[in-house]
Amino acid sequence: RRVLGIEGTAWAASAAVYDVEADDVTIETDAYEPDSGGIHPREAAEHMREAIPQVVEQALDIAREQAADAGEDPEESPVDAVAFSRGPGLGPCLRIVATAARALAQRLSVPLVGVNHMVAHLEIGRHRSGFSAPVCLNASGANAHVLGYRNGRYRVLGETMDTGVGNAIDKFTRHLGWSHPGGPKVEQRASEGEYVDLPYVVKGMDFSFSGIMSAAKQAIDDGEAVEDVCYSLQENIFAMLTEVAERALSLTDADELVLGGGVGQNDRLREMLGKMCDQRGADFFAPEPRFLRDNAGMIAVLGAKMYDTGETIPVEDSRVRPDFRPDEVVVTWRSGEAV
Ligand code: ATP
Repeated sequence: RRVLGIEGTAWAASAAVYDVEADDVTIETDAYEPDSGGIHPREAAEHMREAIPQVVEQALDIAREQAADAGEDPEESPVDAVAFSRGPGLGPCLRIVATAARALAQRLSVPLVGVNHMVAHLEIGRHRSGFSAPVCLNASGANAHVLGYRNGRYRVLGETMDTGVGNAIDKFTRHLGWSHPGGPKVEQRASEGEYVDLPYVVKGMDFSFSGIMSAAKQAIDDGEAVEDVCYSLQENIFAMLTEVAERALSLTDADELVLGGGVGQNDRLREMLGKMCDQRGADFFAPEPRFLRDNAGMIAVLGAKMYDTGETIPVEDSRVRPDFRPDEVVVTWRSGEAV
């Protein structure tokens, strides 16, 4: 059995094949890289229009090869379902991906599965870790959430009150004139820095990144060394994420934490979370980078779980959801579990 996933919420035009029995995921991604500034929604959508058909055909070729190797009838569809990122994300990008997914599902005569991108960031970590009931920290570009599972839904235990965590870092680097994405460049420069004072804002279980991002820009304008500001920005932002993740573990009495999202590729963030979990006697898992940044593999894997529990949608009900919250999703694929 195989499911084809298509992702396109912001920058990654991506398609993947998930071979369920082999638990094998093949991902084809064509990234949008803005010439200047951050992600421009119209340019990103233009990228999707050009790149999605190609990555989908590449993924389909892989599915066809796998089907041929398995001795399946070449007249039959090589995939059982087409899953797509339904939201949250940039509307113009989502609409192109959804159109491609609908057309493909109709062409192959297979069902369509609409996947919540944030829940996919979470589920891929749970799937790869084998953990049963983890708390999840999603540290991505446009979002920052701490989620826990309770009574059939992923509950948002904490979240950003303003900008997404990666977007805050990217806005700071834009001020320095660096190209998008800024996260890896900040990580590199931070390794040579020392601490300078920057805001640290956690309110209850929520975090705010816009004040620290503005203060970091101001620190550069005031002549602080770039390395020092990069170091301090990382230390504070990641300590904020770690603090809320720890409190979520404590409140839910959980002893497993998984990380998701593109900012999760940062070694320092993983180190802080790993240490915090060690000190509490909790297990920590971060999937490999190809599953942390936006990718269609996570859409295909969650799409397969949803397909198994009958969570398919008719084409006429498959409109995109730019503001799709993770707690709106009824988690049918975990329905046998007590908590
Ligand atoms: P979302 O999943 O919320 O829609 P997104 O589409 O922007 O977000 P992701 O791929 O999850 O995408 O994350 C991209 C973000 O990850 C960018 O903001 C980028 O700067 C950041 N990032 C990438 N690598 C690193 C790193 N090594 N350290 C910190 N941040 C990083």
